[in-house]
Amino acid sequence: MVNIAEVVVDCPLKDIDKTFYYAIPNHLVNYIEIGSRVIVPFGNRTLQGYVVNLFDKIEEQKYKLKEIDNVFEYPSILDRKLIDLAKWMSYNYNSSLFSCIQSMLPRGVKLQFTERYYLVKKTLDEDFNLFFKKPRTLGEIIVNLKITKEEIVYYLTEGVLEKKIDIKTNIQEKIEQEISLDVEQEEITLPVNALRQHELLELLTNQEWLSISDLPTPLRNAAKTFIDKGYVKVRERRIFREPETISLSGEKVAKILNDEQRTAFEKLVKAFDNGNKETFLLKGITGSGKTEIYLQFTQHVINSGKDVIILVPEIALTPLMVSRFKSRFGNKVAVLHSGLSEAQKFDEWLKIKDGKVKIVVGARSAVFAPLKNLGVIIIDEEHESTYKQEVQPRYVTKDVAEYRISQQKGVLLLGSATPSVESYYSAQNGYYKLLELTNRANNQGLPNIEIVDMKEELINGNKSIFSRLLYNSIYETLQRGEQVILFLNKRGFSATTLCRNCGFTFKCPHCDVNLTSHHKGNFLICHYCNYSLTSPKICPKCKGKHLRFNGLGTEKLKKEIEKHFPTAKVIRMDNDTMTTASSYNEVYQMFNEGKANVLVGTQMIAKGFDFPKVTLVGIILADLSLNFPDFRSSEKTFQLITQVAGRAGRAELNGKVILQTYTPEHYSIKNSATYNYQGFYQQELKIRESLKYPPFIRLAKLEVMAKGEGEGKKTIEQIYNSLKLKIDNLNEEIQILGPVIPAIPKIRGLYRHILIIKFPKQSALLDVINSYDFKKYVKNNIINIKVDIDPITLI
Ligand code: ADP
Ligand code: ZN
Repeated sequence: MVNIAEVVVDCPLKDIDKTFYYAIPNHLVNYIEIGSRVIVPFGNRTLQGYVVNLFDKIEEQKYKLKEIDNVFEYPSILDRKLIDLAKWMSYNYNSSLFSCIQSMLPRGVKLQFTERYYLVKKTLDEDFNLFFKKPRTLGEIIVNLKITKEEIVYYLTEGVLEKKIDIKTNIQEKIEQEISLDVEQEEITLPVNALRQHELLELLTNQEWLSISDLPTPLRNAAKTFIDKGYVKVRERRIFREPETISLSGEKVAKILNDEQRTAFEKLVKAFDNGNKETFLLKGITGSGKTEIYLQFTQHVINSGKDVIILVPEIALTPLMVSRFKSRFGNKVAVLHSGLSEAQKFDEWLKIKDGKVKIVVGARSAVFAPLKNLGVIIIDEEHESTYKQEVQPRYVTKDVAEYRISQQKGVLLLGSATPSVESYYSAQNGYYKLLELTNRANNQGLPNIEIVDMKEELINGNKSIFSRLLYNSIYETLQRGEQVILFLNKRGFSATTLCRNCGFTFKCPHCDVNLTSHHKGNFLICHYCNYSLTSPKICPKCKGKHLRFNGLGTEKLKKEIEKHFPTAKVIRMDNDTMTTASSYNEVYQMFNEGKANVLVGTQMIAKGFDFPKVTLVGIILADLSLNFPDFRSSEKTFQLITQVAGRAGRAELNGKVILQTYTPEHYSIKNSATYNYQGFYQQELKIRESLKYPPFIRLAKLEVMAKGEGEGKKTIEQIYNSLKLKIDNLNEEIQILGPVIPAIPKIRGLYRHILIIKFPKQSALLDVINSYDFKKYVKNNIINIKVDIDPITLI
């Protein structure tokens, strides 16, 4: 009989990453499975845990096992396959098994519970009985009654006291208060000078219900007064923040696929029907009809009784994808997105688990959606960096998806116009199957990209951020009543030194990343290998003196346009202005309805936008992302330019793109301007190979964050030394670089030091790292250590 469970417990105090064995009491035997959530005694506490394995006996059972107290739900909250996935993640991303399991569940699932003691049999001690008029916690008993634990156990066994566990989930519903006039206007007399109250009254007469939280603060006070005086009635409403879907006509029916689409579709269907695990990379230019393939493939999969997960980089930024799936599949679709309250997410999650939906659309964490019959996972825009989770467990979504799909013998479909170098390399090697779409579905051409060399502008005396070409084009576009998108990469790294005269940047001879300036510009340093250089005062290439590069933000850009083009109505979209999903939708609607004619923004505007009246896209400075001190900066730049360019000329009107740069000869710029993915890829691959970067090797980044700079340095050196020994013993081709101070040397008051490890794909390195005791260096609030396997950047 199975009566022993291996349990991973939630122990927040110590970072215990071990499993423990518990006996399963007879009455629970039938209700405990792998994946069950249980309550277990742990020391003198009670903890939540998950069953990760079951046994009928275990070796070395020297002492009596403690018993599981209770089980939360049956059937279990997770299943064996998800637990296997958690174990795989725990190993591959050096994360505690518990954190991996937690990351699969919506946060609202996490429970809080308190153990309370109830009096069930009165004693002769009246004070004792009185004290237990209400249930008490262990702590209260010990403090107030001054009795020992043994005495409590005695009372329990004698049936005087009984222990119960109160469970509370921390799901919170989103409730909003709304007010509505409750008396005739004539009955209201307001003080003449109470301007806010007059203002509120006017709003209330124009609108049936008014949400208090939508009001500006002074009006909220007026609302309080109105409630007190009984002028208004109040209602509470639970908020469901569904993504605002944009209605699309004709989207309900499947399109007739063109030849390229049909070829791709048929290969997908064949692989799926064959029931072997297979990964496809669908490389198709923007507007080539990738989404249409996702839709029709999904239809085929659910017709066969299987379920589908569709992942998008950021759900708030992809309202179109959501609305297309919703309009085609209706209530078979669950959407997991950040705008949902925890309670809502929990509800959606239960719907999925109970098999009420067949399709899940969501961001990264939706890869864990507990669909019963998962058959296919689709990852749209697979190259996006948001697919890497940046907190523990630091997983790579694509790899997690591949593991899940191999458990199910299903199909993983990665889609992109500009696949990541790693994915394309996998496709070249036959590890992924490549599918290609080379034409736009509506047969429109891609917009022309014109490169402007900003060095020339300077030479010709134009110091403005607009080249003459861009300036004139904005002017003409606005004259024609069309719209402009201006893109500025905020991730720009202003500490990079660039010659404004010739575009020269200082690169590390060993790592091919840009050097960044330090100590008030006195030094230039490579953040991968510590190579350094005293900052030159003149450019080594052209002897020019304009060496510093000053940062430029979207806010300044907006002002510049307003200054130069008084007729322009400019709106801005970036992380500062887009704090909620609804602010995003507002700006989206404003621009869509033509209430603004210039949209200024960061990466955010590069995704998924489809505005028919946009005929001009300006890339203010491509170098900003290019000069980012990271080995993926060329790739990111290529992807961004392609993506941003895809925003122009989506409909009948022809579009054009103007790309401003100081380095027009860079392969990333040159190839993106001609939509030459192959050209870019070949050149990038050569660099990756010669300098040993992925896809040729794997990377690990170890980071020490410390209150004091010296302490951090000491710790990272200790780690380096002991790790180096272990790595040398492996006798593999592993490089351990550092310790170095990364490009951003201090974050939230903590000094950073990093080690970078380059290791072969088949390697025992993960064994070494997983068995290494990093925790012994960790001191609460003083030293923290971060291990990042397959990091997205090395800065
Ligand atoms: P992508 O996802 O590659 O950017 P979409 O699937 O969004 O491309 O397609 C771009 C546009 O072309 C959409 O408006 C879509 O409805 C339309 N479209 C896609 N496939 C077809 C087709 N076979 N016939 C007609 N229109 C299509
Ligand atoms: Zn270097």
